Amino acid sequence: MKSEPLSYLGKDGGPWEIFVEQVDRVVPYLGRYAPLAESLKRPKRVLIVDVPIHLDDGTVAYFEGYRVHHNTARGPAKGGVRYHPEVTLSEVMALAAWMTIKNAAVGLPYGGGKGGIRVDPKKLSPGELERLTRRYTSEIGILLGSDRDIPAPDVNTGEREMAWMMDTFSMNVGRTVPGVVTGKPIALGGSLGRRDATGRGVFVTARAAAEKIGLPIEGSRVILQGFGNVGNAAARIFHDHGARIIAIQDHTGTIYNEAGIDPYDLLKHVAEFGGVRGYPKAEPLPNPEFWAVPAEFLIPAALEKQITEQNAWRIQAKIIAEGANGPTTPAADDILLEKGVLVVPDVIANAGGVTVSYFEWVQDFNSYFWTEEEINARLERVLRNAFEAVWQVSQEKKIPLRTAAYVVAATRVLEARALRGLYP
Ligand code: NAD
Repeated sequence: MKSEPLSYLGKDGGPWEIFVEQVDRVVPYLGRYAPLAESLKRPKRVLIVDVPIHLDDGTVAYFEGYRVHHNTARGPAKGGVRYHPEVTLSEVMALAAWMTIKNAAVGLPYGGGKGGIRVDPKKLSPGELERLTRRYTSEIGILLGSDRDIPAPDVNTGEREMAWMMDTFSMNVGRTVPGVVTGKPIALGGSLGRRDATGRGVFVTARAAAEKIGLPIEGSRVILQGFGNVGNAAARIFHDHGARIIAIQDHTGTIYNEAGIDPYDLLKHVAEFGGVRGYPKAEPLPNPEFWAVPAEFLIPAALEKQITEQNAWRIQAKIIAEGANGPTTPAADDILLEKGVLVVPDVIANAGGVTVSYFEWVQDFNSYFWTEEEINARLERVLRNAFEAVWQVSQEKKIPLRTAAYVVAATRVLEARALRGLYP
């Protein structure tokens, strides 16, 4: 008898369908685990919750919340919580699945999870946001736990929300449980090095790729899209290692200086004016020209679907290290492959954040905290090992790094699934 297809998404699967397609593409490389691949196309559990809150004006508003465990064969579910007016179940399912892949690709002992609330947080007061976060945490509390499901920040959530989530969960169980979320403030058991971790990981994996093709960092030229958490950390670390940041694009415009832009100085400008536009020590550049700037490294660190059929052929960079999630479309991937551009895929290039989240969780269990130097050294080791494993598979099977990363990750997940067997 054949498996029954999932019915709860209806006809329009949205981002979830992209993930299912990605699984189909790696099945031919999964060898004896291929027959188990169907398990990746079915989330382990999906919870939809109603989140009612008192608004400041005394009325009650209702929001839709989700928490999805995609796969927990390798460990507890791990993944962020997103507040956005366009969050859908399909999106949360896909994001949870990509966390399964990312955690397995890097070798962290986690499964994949994700959560979200369909809400525009900019329309809520801090008090309303706190009530929303606490009620949501309570509603999904049946899934949470430091050994079951560990949320973290994602779009529009941060340290503040993580503090509320940790407190709510702790109040409900009657004891303080710091390890139930990561990305917390340092004062509540957060980790040193977490803030720059994703940008640092982008640098570490880009450098590992550069070593493979004999490209030195010192003296190289770097262009970045996005100068937020990920982009500015990556820019500073490249700069500290002797690279020249020559072009940066953000939501306000594009700036260019062949002699190099000092990211520390630019940060002050961005803090004052809200974006890179108008930075006096660089020239403005029309946005579409950004992609064609000659450079050794291109770092997309803003939004998804930025490198497309329209601009991929103009890219001159030798290495693209994906700080953002999903910045390159499949069609653009094909063009870049043809052009010989080496793409370090998001699932390893931006895995520095979840890696230091893992360190935070370990430190919380032991109530023993490491120095920033220890964190950075361990982060580098984890990501270099992850890159090396993916590189080997890509060489052996003659496939791009992205496909190789999926092969490594899916094999690890399905191996765990096979070893555990099917209960009952
Ligand atoms: P952020 O909000 O701190 O920064 C986003 C940057 O993108 C800003 O500089 C903004 O100006 C720029 N941007 C927005 N719209 C743009 C546009 N239309 N054109 C050009 N630039 C634009 O976000 P972040 O935390 O740095 O995340 C960036 C990406 O990295 C996202 O895809 C996110 O999912 C991914 N990511 C982040 C982390 C993390 O730890 N923060 C971890 C893994 C992946």
